[in-house]
Amino acid sequence: MAQDKFDTLRIHAGYKPEDNQFASSVPIYQTAAFGLSNTEVANEIVQGKQPNRYDYSRDGNPTVRVFEKRIAALEGGVDAVAVGSGMSAISYTIFNVAEGGGRIIAPTNIYGSSLDEFRNFFPKFGIDFDFIDDVNDFDRIKALIQDDTKAIYVESVANPSTEIADIETLAGIAHNAGIPLIVDNTFPTPYLFRPFEYGADIVVYSSTKGINGHGNTLSGIVVDHGKFDWTSGKFPQLTEDEFTLGNEETDDHESFTSKFGAAAFIKRIRMKYVRLLGSNLGPIDAYLVLLGLETISERLDKQVASTITIAKFLSTNKHVARVYYSGIEHDNPLVTKYFPKGVGSILSFELKGGETNIAKLIDNVKVFSYLPNIGDAKSLIVNPTRTTHREVPADVRTKHALNNQVIRLSIGLEDIDDLVNDLKQALERAFN
Ligand SMILES: *Cc1c(COP(=O)(O)O)cnc(C)c1O
Repeated sequence: MAQDKFDTLRIHAGYKPEDNQFASSVPIYQTAAFGLSNTEVANEIVQGKQPNRYDYSRDGNPTVRVFEKRIAALEGGVDAVAVGSGMSAISYTIFNVAEGGGRIIAPTNIYGSSLDEFRNFFPKFGIDFDFIDDVNDFDRIKALIQDDTKAIYVESVANPSTEIADIETLAGIAHNAGIPLIVDNTFPTPYLFRPFEYGADIVVYSSTKGINGHGNTLSGIVVDHGKFDWTSGKFPQLTEDEFTLGNEETDDHESFTSKFGAAAFIKRIRMKYVRLLGSNLGPIDAYLVLLGLETISERLDKQVASTITIAKFLSTNKHVARVYYSGIEHDNPLVTKYFPKGVGSILSFELKGGETNIAKLIDNVKVFSYLPNIGDAKSLIVNPTRTTHREVPADVRTKHALNNQVIRLSIGLEDIDDLVNDLKQALERAFN
C-alpha cells in the first residue's frame, strides 16, 4: 500500500512510534549528549555506522532528525539538515557551494537580510554575487556565467512582490553550465510548490514561516535533491580528501562524494557547518515546527482563498494604487504552470497618499498584527521599506516598485469577513 502522499507524509514521515515507547507525539529529546554504551559501540556511533544512535546534540538529535526526514520526504529529496534559522540555512548553503571563493548569480528582489548578506557580507569571504533585476532574464543570466560561477540562487516566489521564478528554465540554464540551482522556497512552502519536481538541486527554507505556521519559534532547513554531480572539479571541497571521513591508522582516504555519493552536499553541511559553526536546531523548536507542519495543507488552503479575496478587495479600493499578488494574475503562465493550488498567503499593495497615511493605516488595524513575520495563523501587516526590507538600497527598491507606500500583508486563519472589514475601516481612517 502506497503511503507516500503529501498529506500522509506531513503527519507520519520520519517517525516510528514503535521505536519511541509508542509515543503518539514525537518526543522532545531534551538532552545535550547521549550515552555511548561501550567503547566498541562508541566507535561505530562516531563513524556513523549506527544510524539510530546519537552522541551529541550539535551532531544530531532524534527530535530534530524527525523534522529533517519529514521535510526531505515531503520535498522528494535525498536528505535534509535543520538549523536554527532561515538565514543559517541560506548562509551554510552558500558557503558550502562556494567555499574558498567564487561567484553566485542572484536576483535583487529577495528577502532584505539575504540581499544584505549577498551584497555586503559574503564578498568579505571571497564569495561575490552577480545580480539580476529580473529573475527570469535568461539571456542576462547566461551572459553572467563565468568559470568560477558556483550556483544560481533564486526565491521561487519573491518577497514581497510575489514575482514567480521560472524554476524549470533556470534549472536548465544552471545544469548546462555545470552548476546547481538553489531555491529559497519559503513563501509557497512544499505544500504549494516543490522545486525538485522542476529540476532544482537545493531547496532552503525559513521554516519559521509557513512550514511552522504559528509564529512561535525560528528554524531553517536545507534539502538536497541528491541529483547534482559535484565531481566536475568545480567543487573541490566535496571531492578532496576529508580527514574526518578517512582513517589515518589504516591509511584510508575518503571525500564527501566518495563516502556519501548523492548525499555529499547535505552531509557536508551537517558535518562541517552545523558541527563546526553551530546554529543547530533545538529539540523543542523542532517539536514546535513538527506540530505546525501537521496542519500545513488545511492552513494553506484557507489562507490562499482568503488572500485571493483580500487581493481582489484591495484592487477595487479607492485608496489603493496597486496590488502585488501574482495569485490573481490569471494571464500569468507561470502561475498556471507552477501554482495550481495557489501562490501563497502573502501579498503587498501600494497605498495612495504619503507616509502619514501609511502610519494611520497601520495604527488603525485591529485584527491584523503589526510585526515583521509571515506565514502565521494570525494575519500580519508590515511596511517593508522601514522594517523587513530596510537593507534594500534605494536604486533596487525603485526597480521593484518597493517604495515607502508599499504595505505587505500575511493572511492568517481568522474569519475572512473580519479581515476584509478590518482593512476597510483602517483604509477609511487612514485618509480621514
Ligand atoms: C524570513 C525569511 C528568511 C529568513 O529566515 P529566518 O528564519 O528569519 O532567519 C529567508 N528568506 C525568506 C524568503 C524569508 O521570508
